[in-house]
Amino acid sequence: MNTTGIHHVTAISGGPQRNLDFYIGVLGLRMVKKTVNFDDPGTYHLYYGDGGGNPGSIMTFFPWANAPKGTQGTGQLTAASFSIPERSLDFWTARLAENGASFDEPETRFGNTVLPFADPDGMRLELVADSEDTREAWEDGTVPPENAVRGFHDVTLSVANPERTAEVMTKRLGFREAATENGRARYEAGDGGSGNSVDVVEGSSDSAGRMGVGTVHHVAFRVPDYETQESLREEIAALGFDVTPVLDRNYFRSIYFREPGGVLFEIATDPPGFTDDEPLDELGTNLKLPPWLESRRDRIESSLPHLDVPTKENV
Ligand code: ZN
Repeated sequence: MNTTGIHHVTAISGGPQRNLDFYIGVLGLRMVKKTVNFDDPGTYHLYYGDGGGNPGSIMTFFPWANAPKGTQGTGQLTAASFSIPERSLDFWTARLAENGASFDEPETRFGNTVLPFADPDGMRLELVADSEDTREAWEDGTVPPENAVRGFHDVTLSVANPERTAEVMTKRLGFREAATENGRARYEAGDGGSGNSVDVVEGSSDSAGRMGVGTVHHVAFRVPDYETQESLREEIAALGFDVTPVLDRNYFRSIYFREPGGVLFEIATDPPGFTDDEPLDELGTNLKLPPWLESRRDRIESSLPHLDVPTKENV
């Protein structure tokens, strides 16, 4: 009973328009779902991902225009890395520069070239040139398919005590240590490689992260079915972790617990997926609400800001 890789990453951003202009207009991701924060339906919850809305490609945001800025640091997921074709590095360096994104010199990590950059809220992201990623590109994004992001490559967790975090990941969540380099340990689940890799680094205890705009709220690991999630929930609870009941997130079911390093972990099911309430070719085009909010649709729609979604025709 194991997780098989990354399902999604959820972060907090400033206002929604600037956020989607960057993730759709610059990074070329697809709007996979446009919905609201189920606990605060006057604000959006935006899901970006690949053309199919596949787990392992999904980056979601709570865009809170007036929330305080956070600090990235120890006890958090401190970098989300996206996979790009190896030949596309020059394309991406030019694209980030043209769009005024801040980026650093490329570095080499576990044999891949890594281009660190930041989103408009200063959140750290990376592009990893991975010639072995066989996932399909989205044909209709703002980035030509030959250069398009394929989904996540990996995520980096910064924790005060990497051994304790690694122990939960390897003993309970199905990760195995794949490599270490320069104080960074890479763990892989499922088939390994792009979308299934998590790096753990030791963060300093005097640079603790603080939740807010520009920080990651949680990372979700995927399980193939509800039964696996139930078994994992029992195992995690038996270890003494405070794990939530199973919550219905409409597109997946979720449980959450905080790992020993302070990062909020979610375990999310692959089913039912993002095509559960709109067809594949319409993903992200309609405001979708869970059944229990439908009766309030008029009020919710009128309180949400209008969004202009970039397309390959209009960027
Ligand atoms: Zn989540």
